Amino acid sequence: MKYLFLTAFLLTGMGMVCAQNNDSLVIRKIADEILTNGQAYNNLRILCKQIGPRLSGSAQAARAVDFTFRKMKEMGADTVFLQECMVPHWVRGKKEEARILYPNGTNRSLKVCALGNSVGTPEKGLTASVIEVRSFAELEELGAEKIRGHIVFFNYRMNPLFVNTFRAYGDAYQYRGSGPAIAAKFGAIGVMIRSLASNDDDHPHTGTTEYVDSIRKIPAIALSTNDADILSRELKKRIAIRVFFKTNCRMLADVKSYNVVGELKGTEFPNEIVTVGGHLDSWDLAEGAHDDGAGCVQSMEIISTFKALAIQPRRTIRVVMFMNEENGSRGGDKYAEIARTAEDKKFIFALESDAGGFTPRGFGFTASTSQKARIWEWKKLFEPYGICEFYDGGDGADIEPLGKMGTALAGLVPDSQRYFDVHHAETDVLEAVSVRELKLGAINMAALIYLASEYGMN
Ligand SMILES: [Zn+2]
Repeated sequence: MKYLFLTAFLLTGMGMVCAQNNDSLVIRKIADEILTNGQAYNNLRILCKQIGPRLSGSAQAARAVDFTFRKMKEMGADTVFLQECMVPHWVRGKKEEARILYPNGTNRSLKVCALGNSVGTPEKGLTASVIEVRSFAELEELGAEKIRGHIVFFNYRMNPLFVNTFRAYGDAYQYRGSGPAIAAKFGAIGVMIRSLASNDDDHPHTGTTEYVDSIRKIPAIALSTNDADILSRELKKRIAIRVFFKTNCRMLADVKSYNVVGELKGTEFPNEIVTVGGHLDSWDLAEGAHDDGAGCVQSMEIISTFKALAIQPRRTIRVVMFMNEENGSRGGDKYAEIARTAEDKKFIFALESDAGGFTPRGFGFTASTSQKARIWEWKKLFEPYGICEFYDGGDGADIEPLGKMGTALAGLVPDSQRYFDVHHAETDVLEAVSVRELKLGAINMAALIYLASEYGMN
């Protein structure tokens, strides 16, 4: 990098101190540049407001590819290129309908959305009585006899006792991910889940469900958390209610899409690659501001910032807009597949920001013990910018396949308290992102990428 005048002293104790001082000066410059001239929020505005929801295979996803390709060129990346990959093309179709049907002929509508990748209902919708369960064990206990022909309602609340909301999400995920496949095994004709959300409101949250090929695919929807409570309350009254729901979604043939890669070529070790990115696709209900427009624009910010400060990295930096994290992970798989066959290159480090554009709190690292020992020496450099914790363990869904080939991985860890209020719901919009918080994330990411490209990962 440009600020290399102390390299000669690196091996002496004095040199180490100076290097740290120099690094802290460079990082200060990075921070000042982003705080005064940062473009991340403006770029996020374009992704959210001009382009909008960017589900894989959609016209907007294609526009996002074009926009970020052009933008990274404009920022001065040495090269920008596309990596072709085939992605699933799931479409929601017309807005879903759902109602509680009372025995006296009245009804009450419910706020729902189809789960991603799910099959649609028959044209006339599904009508059946509902069996509410809170766990797979309860389902098992009831058995096929009681479940056959009914709609199963997984009313599992994200556990509020986990301070880190990602733990609660990980814990509750099984009901969205596997609930429909498991309920179908017992003969259910449809599944409703309580939205994976940490707040109580009227917005259903979508997200992928994973069918099993050998089991019948049944329609699956999420209810808003408020409506999950209402349905549960009505079921407890033990009057003979039924539920009607109709979804219009379907899976079309795969379509061609792309990862977008912007590169700053390394001056000394161009074949050692430091990767940083987020995923460009989002769910169709949302602008995908926190998930994961934020991670994309924070990553691109590294190119404009390094260019503005004339920082020339010693190792090659690749800023990657991954495609299809939400309902297939094809982009992440493709990136690793290409990396595996590029024998002249070494993918030494990868960082992903896919946990929201909130105030950064830390980084999590998945790396060898000796790599972590070195990385931990950098920790102090981040404290002025709000990062006080380095955690053992961390990555991102798109970079995880790289980890299997020995790449050291990291994930940005922002404050998690509000993420699951908006995650995969129509409330994940630009207005939910703070300019300052977004910038702080970008600063810390740029600082980490600077250090990784400067010192490598040996
Ligand atoms: Zn995401």
